[in-house]
Amino acid sequence: MKIAVVRETAPGETRVAATPETVKKFIGLGAEVAVEAGSGESASVSDADYKAAGASVSPRAKTLDGADLILCIDGPDADGLKGAKPGAILVGALDPFRRREKIDGYASAGLEALAMEWMPRITRAQSMDVLSSQSNLGGYKAVVDAAAAYGRAFPMMMTAAGTVSPAKVFVMGVGVAGLQAIATARRLGAQVSATDVRSATKEQIQSVGAKPIFVENVAGIEGEGAGGYATEMSEEYQKAQAHLVSGHIAKQDIVITTALIPGRPAPKLISDAQVATMRPGSVIVDMAADAGGNVEGTVPGDRITKHGVTIIGAANLARTLPADASALFARNLYNFLSAFWDKEQGRVVLPDDDEIVKGVRLTQDGKVVNERLTAAS
Ligand code: NAD
Repeated sequence: MKIAVVRETAPGETRVAATPETVKKFIGLGAEVAVEAGSGESASVSDADYKAAGASVSPRAKTLDGADLILCIDGPDADGLKGAKPGAILVGALDPFRRREKIDGYASAGLEALAMEWMPRITRAQSMDVLSSQSNLGGYKAVVDAAAAYGRAFPMMMTAAGTVSPAKVFVMGVGVAGLQAIATARRLGAQVSATDVRSATKEQIQSVGAKPIFVENVAGIEGEGAGGYATEMSEEYQKAQAHLVSGHIAKQDIVITTALIPGRPAPKLISDAQVATMRPGSVIVDMAADAGGNVEGTVPGDRITKHGVTIIGAANLARTLPADASALFARNLYNFLSAFWDKEQGRVVLPDDDEIVKGVRLTQDGKVVNERLTAAS
């Protein structure tokens, strides 16, 4: 089986879908690995490192020539993948809902496209979950960026010149990114509080040393919620939550928002009037910026100041940590593909009835086959 690793071309992309570590592991399974020249440059991996791991390094056409499997981060256009074998598997973060025309292109080109973001949230697939691995790094980076933009210190400092009080950090949305944001803010010495709609997160917030701030009078989502996902909340809940936020946010220096609802725009959690109650110099990092934002006025990929408060519209923060983000993404890909490796045939075999395969497979035999896409069209 020939595995091709393509150089990313999407604007702002810094990551690479394979590292020397995963190249070696794929070769260990019996695969041949070809890497497009320059693929790892922005993630601090040189062509020589790939060669030392046993890969061949060449321009794109030669890399793709006869490939059975193509690894990528962002899905390239099908036109850019010519030369691979008919029916070749393309696997990466293909963003199926927002890049539908690309998915149709893969079907027409006869590629079997697999979207890693649609990995089911089941225990068996945890080590294959790119959303978790990248959100975890994003949660860390959101706090680091907030600290850099904040004109005060995070930890309490008792100095000869007087005491510096600790920063108060509020994390809204305690999934993978939010939990890492809490942990990072705590490591920097901040006083941290956090909220979510899923009741199971209360204990998780406490376990990482933060204070849970929850809507008490209206029921939220019981336990973890289906698959760990939130749904849109009732109007009554939203009102109670807005009231809770109004009472809490004016006392906060840093707010990190991460709240997402699958397949829907991000819930609006902070209004302009609430931003205006924060003290000048405060910082908000809106990690949901790409999904419409949790904060009124957020500009994705940009930093604005409103009422003296800096609002950072954080877009794809994992890209700002290319070496670690690539290492984790590449391991997710390896964990996934090696789980379906048939030793006798020396290739990946994807059974139609497997829950993981059903979740990630978008196209096959010239058609779009994933129910989430066929139902949407
Ligand atoms: P996510 O990115 O979908 O959402 C982020 C957080 O925002 C969630 O905790 C959600 O409840 C919260 N949220 C949504 N609406 C909100 C609102 N109005 N107000 C406040 N918060 C709101 O979530 P995620 O980080 O991908 O993961 C969520 C859960 O799923 C976690 O418990 C995680 O451990 C679990 N998970 C499990 C697996 C697995 O088992 N393979 C994989 C990934 C995640």
